Amino acid sequence: MHVAAADSPKWSHDGLRARRQEPYRNRPDRMTRHVTHIAVLGSTGSIGRSTLEVIDASQGALKAVALSAQKNTALLKAQACALRPRWIVVADPDSAAREDWADLPKETQVLVGAEGITRVVADAGVDVVLSAIVGRAGLEGTWAALEAGKKVALANKESLVVGGPLVTRLARERQAVILPVDSEHSAVFQVLHAGRREEVQRVVLTASGGPFRTLSKQRLAEVTVDEALAHPTWDMGRKITIDSATLINKALEIIEARWLFDLRPDQIGTVIHPQSIVHSLVEFIDGSVVAQLSPPDMKLPIQYALNWPERKAGVAARLDWTRAMRLEFEPPDLDRFPALHLGLEVARAGGTAGAVLNGANETAVAAFLDGRLRFDQIVPVCQQVLHSHRFDPNPTLNQLLESDLWARQEVLRWIGA
Ligand code: MG
Repeated sequence: MHVAAADSPKWSHDGLRARRQEPYRNRPDRMTRHVTHIAVLGSTGSIGRSTLEVIDASQGALKAVALSAQKNTALLKAQACALRPRWIVVADPDSAAREDWADLPKETQVLVGAEGITRVVADAGVDVVLSAIVGRAGLEGTWAALEAGKKVALANKESLVVGGPLVTRLARERQAVILPVDSEHSAVFQVLHAGRREEVQRVVLTASGGPFRTLSKQRLAEVTVDEALAHPTWDMGRKITIDSATLINKALEIIEARWLFDLRPDQIGTVIHPQSIVHSLVEFIDGSVVAQLSPPDMKLPIQYALNWPERKAGVAARLDWTRAMRLEFEPPDLDRFPALHLGLEVARAGGTAGAVLNGANETAVAAFLDGRLRFDQIVPVCQQVLHSHRFDPNPTLNQLLESDLWARQEVLRWIGA
């Protein structure tokens, strides 16, 4: 933690004066205010934009010192002008070269490429790295932040799906902390405080069921991109919205939970809960089930992770208990949504399986969005690629990245691209 008075221009002038003037000396609100300095990786995406709202509402307790984007330089520049961070990073060099950076704040430096991300997350001035880059591309930033021993608020579940055992081992070795931002995992993380580790019987992840929860198998074959992008309860980015519609998102979350909480795969269950109010449940050995509830709003898990271990008032929506509310739960239909099988299978296997499933899914989703693959082919393609890969139980990071690449090429081969 850093003391704002020491290094923020806004506070230092008052701070110096205060030291000379006795009456100000005991004003903790001015003199010892802690500011958490945050690097927001993926600041132009859905989670990134929600994060900046949380930071903006924190009354100076949270400060964005670094922002990164892949290609959306226009929004990144607008964010930089509003927040005046120390760095912005553009991951795609061509996009960085095309933008006119002349009107950027004087104190903001532009860095380009993956090296820029690696550099800012390791800086001593960064307390928390919010990892919200979409897909496998988010792994490098997560990895570099953990290597530097940072607190990582992890929205990028693919980091754990692809590299679970290596990523969690790195976190332990560097005494870094992974704080879940995925709403289900944030719920489990909060609820686990209700008992001891050995008292946990099982974790039940809730799933909204997506827009096609009640659709017949036949209709699933005809689903259009627009239909798949219209999620009933959550407003999210395109990739995760499709993942929610196929339920692959829940498969990835089973794998994420396995590594994040060191659970046996048979301790992880899923239940369909269409209202997305109960974000997950933990069942303890005495049969008691403890849940976390809040409206479907990512700002809550974001602000919980950024303020952890404290809770702070914020901008997240609240439940209205003066209105009638129904909470429904039903078991998932594994026949129409076979993705959940894949999640448990990969959670059990470990090794290269996560990298293959994720690489295949990212490529299949992109192909569906481009009109090159049917909606109901996404999961079968992933399954086929997963089952034809040469499994390695103890891969290195490089071998994981090779497995990811292989899976992507296999999907393209399958599609005939
Ligand atoms: Mg989730």
